[in-house]
Amino acid sequence: MDFSKPDNARKVNRLKVLSLFRKEEGIGRAEIAKLIGINKVSVSEMVDSLLQEGYLYESGKEKVAKGRPKTRLSLNGEKGAVIVFSFQNKNVIALLGDLKGRIIRIEILSYGQDLGENLNSTYEKMKESTSAAILGVLISSDEAIDAELSFPYVWKRRIESLVRGEQDTFCEELEDTLFLAIGREITGEIFRNGEKIILTSIGHMRIKRGAICSKGHEGCLEGYFSLYAYEKKGKDLMLEEENYLRSDEVLSYLRENLRVLSSALLTLSEVLSVKKAVLLGDGADFPDDFLLSINKMLKENSSELDVRKGDAKAKGEIGGSLDLALDEFFFKKDLLSSLSYIEGITSVSST
Ligand SMILES: [Zn+2]
Repeated sequence: MDFSKPDNARKVNRLKVLSLFRKEEGIGRAEIAKLIGINKVSVSEMVDSLLQEGYLYESGKEKVAKGRPKTRLSLNGEKGAVIVFSFQNKNVIALLGDLKGRIIRIEILSYGQDLGENLNSTYEKMKESTSAAILGVLISSDEAIDAELSFPYVWKRRIESLVRGEQDTFCEELEDTLFLAIGREITGEIFRNGEKIILTSIGHMRIKRGAICSKGHEGCLEGYFSLYAYEKKGKDLMLEEENYLRSDEVLSYLRENLRVLSSALLTLSEVLSVKKAVLLGDGADFPDDFLLSINKMLKENSSELDVRKGDAKAKGEIGGSLDLALDEFFFKKDLLSSLSYIEGITSVSST
């Protein structure tokens, strides 16, 4: 896109205006102009067309000391919808969400031979249950789906949903924080200069000889800390429990190997130069004293890395995947954030 063209600039401003309504309600025209730094005339024109198209509606009026009363504006959540298939460890959560991130319909599908068919028919059902236009379908899963699907979709890795959910809970500065999702595999995510970077082979860094990972290598982080490793250990110990991570035997095995996770984190913090790490996913759902030990080991190695566990959990992952879908199909968040990064550079270099 060439942003010097007036038409494209208008599209970008329109996205900026819509993005303001993501979290806020009842903003007036003057506030919009101030918040995105464009003149009131252009804002009024844009608001008028968004009202006409039905994306915004007037949600009230407010008296002001001088002049005409301020018209409060809000986003019409029902103007569009997105469909998300969130692949969890044991099943697939299908959901229909509106533009305000509200879940309109949710279904739980089980994994099986007819998964593709199941996804296709659920897609049709979801589509039929709303009069809103479906803006897109997002699939959030560890690996790309190999089923034949009858609809177009965008694929995101689970870690992106987890991080998005975490970001919604904490609104924290994402730059220079390492997110590590511990599921059947280990995936990392980090933001650098406004860009999202996914680190896929992070789990296969060699730390300590002994355990074998799912790919058959010896000594990887994943061989010790991943749902695959916990299950394998549980089976080796002939445990009956379905949830190995909660069993005393597996927990004590992990406690003995905490140094493996600490050294991996130490290496990563040095290589990536990060001072904060957040552990996410079902595989990171271990007791709090594990975390204390990890942080203590890092301090002993004079590392400044601070490690914490994510709080968003499964609910956060689902909410995160819905927000990713809205980012992708409606708010075009990636486009806006890379633009604001570019604007940031140009305004710094021009002063
Ligand atoms: Zn490996």
